[in-house]
Amino acid sequence: MEGDGYGGYRTRLVETLQQKGIRDLAVLRAVGTVPRHLFVPESVRHRAYEDVALPIAGRQTISQPWVQARYLELAALTGRERVLEVGAGSGYQTALLAQLAEAVFAIERIPALAQSARAALEAAGVRNATVLVGDGTLGWRPFAPYDAILVAAASPEIPGPLVEQLAPDGRLIIPLGDRNSQVLTLARRVGEELRISTVADVRFVPLLGEFGFTS
Ligand code: SAH
Repeated sequence: MEGDGYGGYRTRLVETLQQKGIRDLAVLRAVGTVPRHLFVPESVRHRAYEDVALPIAGRQTISQPWVQARYLELAALTGRERVLEVGAGSGYQTALLAQLAEAVFAIERIPALAQSARAALEAAGVRNATVLVGDGTLGWRPFAPYDAILVAAASPEIPGPLVEQLAPDGRLIIPLGDRNSQVLTLARRVGEELRISTVADVRFVPLLGEFGFTS
């Protein structure tokens, strides 16, 4: 979105992320392109390009850009992948993913959030992303397998259905822990094995569903 009046803010956000260690040029380019202000509520629009999490509807949050950029680096996308996102929230991460992958399926459990995410994605001109309403801990079988699965909410463990829907060599990124603190975790499918590595301490809203937190 050149010439929307926010280009300078996006450039500054990209510089901030670089200073904080984000190196992947495709990821930085996506952050420099996607109009984040379209994905946040009017009341916090003036803070859209700060590197902070912000409140969105339904007592949820749009994650901090640095965290989202780390997710995207870990996903190591080349433009050809089919990606599942669990917890679409504002739709901003969905829009970043749409820049970096071939097709994005994003699940959101709160219908009103899914609806505003769809509207924001359309306003941002994103065409290769679909927002679905449902319990993302079940994955979304009709479009499986996925080359990457990004879970944007905290879970006590990796939901089994997501492992089943991960393609060979696929990557799954999820914050694992209790409700107060989690560790951002990368799981890679190598043959029949799931190789786990931990990345950083994070704090996310809970993943509420059959294979997440049940209440
Ligand atoms: N990537 C989003 C993050 C939103 S916060 C953004 O940047 O805006 C996490 C989201 O996960 C919330 O919107 C919450 O409603 C959603 N969520 C929680 N449990 C879920 C589940 N089981 N299935 C789908 N979405 C879920």
